[in-house]
Amino acid sequence: MHITLSKNISYCFGVKRTLTLVQELLQENPGKTYYMLGEIVHNEYVINDLKNQGLRIVRELDSIQNGSSVIIQSHGAPKKLIDDLKQRGLDVIDATCPMVTVIHKKIVRLVQEGYFPVIIGKQGHDEVRGIAGQVLGALIVRSPGEITAEKFVGIAKVGIVVQSTFIRAQALAIVEKIKSIVPEVKFIDTICRPTTERQEEVENIPDDFDYILIIGSRTSANTRHLFKLASGKEATVHLVDDPETVRDLDIPPHSHVFVASGASTPLYLIEKVVALLEHKKISETGEKSG
Ligand code: SF4
Repeated sequence: MHITLSKNISYCFGVKRTLTLVQELLQENPGKTYYMLGEIVHNEYVINDLKNQGLRIVRELDSIQNGSSVIIQSHGAPKKLIDDLKQRGLDVIDATCPMVTVIHKKIVRLVQEGYFPVIIGKQGHDEVRGIAGQVLGALIVRSPGEITAEKFVGIAKVGIVVQSTFIRAQALAIVEKIKSIVPEVKFIDTICRPTTERQEEVENIPDDFDYILIIGSRTSANTRHLFKLASGKEATVHLVDDPETVRDLDIPPHSHVFVASGASTPLYLIEKVVALLEHKKISETGEKSG
């Protein structure tokens, strides 16, 4: 079995930065309670590790004790939520990825310039809720099929940003559809560099690979997008959210396997998958992989 690892494996710099900040806070202030509204990143292994270190993850503002510290997750948060937290006298620690903060600023600027705001992304995703929460009345769209003339009646100028982990080709198709309806469209491509690099690498995986494993959580948008892109290749593609499931994959001993991961997948899960693939090979052929 020949295993090739993606050049862009494990955490992106934004996730790494947020996790380092949270871990430092927890370690330097033992006994102090830190809250987070929603999940820091979409990976249950990472979440459980941090919960075990004392981080409290809650869904409702009312679940937060007075006087506590609240960490804003890497996906960011709506402006009103941050204002509410501050008004309650809570200590707000902003761990929003800088690339997401840029999207917040871009959409605010578009509205100031008179554009009707459109966000390409998944309704309900934490990052998209945070972006929409910087302005009033943004339209959120996810596919060209959702774009109809009725949605833009009386609108002459549309300004578009896109969720940082969205698939670029799909975003461009949506932009083209809006351009066919609205006279003036300004599109700011806010898909982040780490996402672009990962998507391009998966799109360019040579066809001589027999299997592609995408390691990451099913709740992670960027992991699902990589899986979708990989599914367009010749190879058989598996999304691995639990390394143990690799034991049951039917991968013949002399296969070429490409291993990639989402931006919120810890390195130890990737190492475990690779170790299980190695073990499979050794137990089936007695050889080590090249
Ligand atoms: S995927 Fe991009 S926007 Fe999201 S945390 Fe990573 S670097 Fe930041």
